[in-house]
Amino acid sequence: MGTEWSISTSGRLADKGIVTMPRRSLYACHHPGCPESIREGRFCPAHEKKHQAEIDQRRGSAASRGYDARWRRLRKMYLAANPICVDPFNDHPGQVVLATDVDHKVSKSKGGTSRWDNLESLCHTCHSKKTAKEDGRWG
Ligand SMILES: [Zn+2]
Ligand SMILES: [Zn+2]
Repeated sequence: MGTEWSISTSGRLADKGIVTMPRRSLYACHHPGCPESIREGRFCPAHEKKHQAEIDQRRGSAASRGYDARWRRLRKMYLAANPICVDPFNDHPGQVVLATDVDHKVSKSKGGTSRWDNLESLCHTCHSKKTAKEDGRWG
């Protein structure tokens, strides 16, 4: 029906200084009330760090990754020192079964610590049994 599409391809925008940003010197840190002046980024160094820490905290990454690494090391050391399953359910009396897992006697969710006196070596069977008893929560 004779509809006309007028496509304007004005190349002028490119010439209007979009490429060359005006050189701004100093501007205020984006943190509310912060008196610091910065030249780039969103925050002054101190607030940049704080901001990043808050992001990490929200993800829980830094803390939990740190915990995992510590726990893996501790677990390995404990297993090396206590290689035999303590057989907490008397499942394999008189048998020496090599432990594959380290468990918290008092689980961390109940306030147990990761100190050696709260740990015990378990074979896979005993650990599964214990985990099942504690309704599926990993100690
Ligand atoms: Zn700041
Ligand atoms: Zn066992």
